[in-house]
Amino acid sequence: MIKNVAIIYPNKFKAGISCLAVHILAKHLSKFKDINVSVYFLENYHKIKNFDAIFITLQYENDYFNAIKIVKDLRKTNSNAVFVAGGPCIMENFYPIAEFFDAVIVGEIEDSDVMLKVINREFDTEGVYSKHIDKDVVKRIYPKKLTIDDYPIYQPTSEEGSYGKSFLLELGRGCPRRCRFCLARAIYYPPRFRKLNDLMYLAEEGVKVNKVNKVALIAPSVGDYKYIVELCNFLDDLGVQISPSSLRADTLNEELMKILRQKTLTIAPEAGSERLREFIKKDIKEGDIFNAVDLAKKFEVNKIKLYFMVGIPTETEEDIEKLINLTKKIKKEIKKVEVSINPMIPKPHTDFEIEEFDLTSKKKIKYIEKNLRKEGVKVEYENFNSMICQCVLARGDENLSNYLDVSKNPTNLISALKKDKLLDKYLGKIDKMPWKNIVI
Ligand code: SF4
Repeated sequence: MIKNVAIIYPNKFKAGISCLAVHILAKHLSKFKDINVSVYFLENYHKIKNFDAIFITLQYENDYFNAIKIVKDLRKTNSNAVFVAGGPCIMENFYPIAEFFDAVIVGEIEDSDVMLKVINREFDTEGVYSKHIDKDVVKRIYPKKLTIDDYPIYQPTSEEGSYGKSFLLELGRGCPRRCRFCLARAIYYPPRFRKLNDLMYLAEEGVKVNKVNKVALIAPSVGDYKYIVELCNFLDDLGVQISPSSLRADTLNEELMKILRQKTLTIAPEAGSERLREFIKKDIKEGDIFNAVDLAKKFEVNKIKLYFMVGIPTETEEDIEKLINLTKKIKKEIKKVEVSINPMIPKPHTDFEIEEFDLTSKKKIKYIEKNLRKEGVKVEYENFNSMICQCVLARGDENLSNYLDVSKNPTNLISALKKDKLLDKYLGKIDKMPWKNIVI
């Protein structure tokens, strides 16, 4: 009997359509016979009725509020469906949200039949946690190699998506770098890159099948792909525009700049001082940053965007001053400089997992903004409550489910936790890590 299965991205279409995971999940399920798979977003999930299985991919903690509402709504109209969650947030720490689902999948699904098993309610499976069965330790699953078999060549795209109408080409998963704060490095370890020939084939087919003229390169650090220049040359010969998702300052060179023809260059020093960058093992020296600035000047890049974090353990006032001075120095070289600055969230499975969230970050950000604005630098940052909420949900335990059940948004959740004097439990130094039984 045919089973109707939905993949839901629990936010707006324009965010979900550029999420490669959505396309990978749909492609993976379409391989199984008797499965009829379709993709939904916040705008149209109401149409799902009498389905057999509903998968929600959780890419961001703050999507939990939407995800829970979706599950509650759809349980009424899909009484026999199995509800499953997966994605990086589940790998990070599923305990606050697992209660709302029949099962959660911890890991990457390619090269396994884990999705099929949970559709058939076989929850006692490697990589699966379910409230319906007794299991203490859950081990992450992942494919040892990334092949073309599971790759979604057909990708419905949209001008509204964050990469516009482009083919998403995943160069690899996992990162060979060692930044101590980085969740992606931890949960997608070990780094696995695709073969150059595979990527050339996928790009050629993808561009043809989807009738697009842009390829977005997806990887935690695109410049770390060994054959990046060869690949970009190939794409250039194909006549397509190239959009790299992330480039490290120390991987930039003339060859790459020439092919990429970027109008904006993004650099993520993360910390302003050499000392702090060394401490977090960002491995970017001031020389690398100014080498990138020189390249930007030479290749007529008209804007540099800098990403920083504050609230890093051991940070001092001097580090903050150095961040401001570094930005000012760059501004002297390039006319348009923008800074994105947010508090560091001590995420599970990273070196800083038990550290406290720095509540003085907001003051630091405001101070930096005041000093940089007068120099003509635009400073952007996330809503502070939403960052606090992200930290709480990332490091929460099962008790948070009760609060999530009744909170409609981050502000509600934070107020309820404050009222019960629980906020500090999740933001302060952690004694007992709820995620210790998730083996990454
Ligand atoms: S380079 Fe980027 S993706 Fe890699 S470990 Fe550092 S922050 Fe993470």
